[in-house]
Amino acid sequence: MLEAHGLWKKFGDFQALKGVDFTLETGELVFIIGPSGSGKSTLLRCLNRLEEPSDGVVIFEGVDLMDRNVDINLMRRRIGMVFQQFNLYPHLNARDNITLALRKVLGKSRSEANAVAEKMLERVGLADKAESHPGALSGGQQQRVAIARALALEPAVMLFDEPTSALDPELVGSVLQVMQQLRDAGMTMVVVSHEMRFARAAADRVIFMADGQILEEGTPEEIFEAPKHQRTREFMAEIG
Ligand code: ADP
Ligand code: MG
Repeated sequence: MLEAHGLWKKFGDFQALKGVDFTLETGELVFIIGPSGSGKSTLLRCLNRLEEPSDGVVIFEGVDLMDRNVDINLMRRRIGMVFQQFNLYPHLNARDNITLALRKVLGKSRSEANAVAEKMLERVGLADKAESHPGALSGGQQQRVAIARALALEPAVMLFDEPTSALDPELVGSVLQVMQQLRDAGMTMVVVSHEMRFARAAADRVIFMADGQILEEGTPEEIFEAPKHQRTREFMAEIG
């Protein structure tokens, strides 16, 4: 469904990605782990061209995303993204945070958009929070609104960049539960996270990145129980 070949990303003289090859099958949940600064976020952002790769190709549903003629906004709608910082509009309530893109990007009427937003809020367990502004919601609830907003655009794949890292520990579970439900519903997902319990429970494949490269990948068992690379072992020991 989504693949990248020979992805390089330079920031000035610094090589954040050094020839990454990545493939994602429909229905797969791939976890990406690795030390801070190893290029995980850069890889995710290159996959939907929030970041312009310096070299390489990204192909999504058979379409070359590097092609100048590609409707990148359409592609981005189909590749949902959820960030560590939820990036909700503080002056809009939960419903309107979701309907904004539906109306602007998809051209839906207010009543159509409201109906979709309410369905999505229900899906993430926040049916009663439609009128609440982000400031009145917990971090976990805000993140679930952000997930609902991405889902409203009917993405084919969802990219999660450390979705629970900014949350108080007691709020992490509610977000992972929503992600697990998505997974159970067959959503194709890429998740950058250090939530190893979730990885073990939900991931089909785990990728370990270091220094802008994929050092190894395998099933959760292979990567967590029997990592081949010294760097992977060190990383596992550090995060416990
Ligand atoms: P990770 O998500 O694994 O922590 P990132 O992909 O965010 O790593 O970053 C990889 C490296 O690229 C880091 O050293 C980071 O400082 C650098 N980097 C990321 N974004 C930029 C940018 N916009 N400008 C300069 N350097 C960047
Ligand atoms: Mg990151």
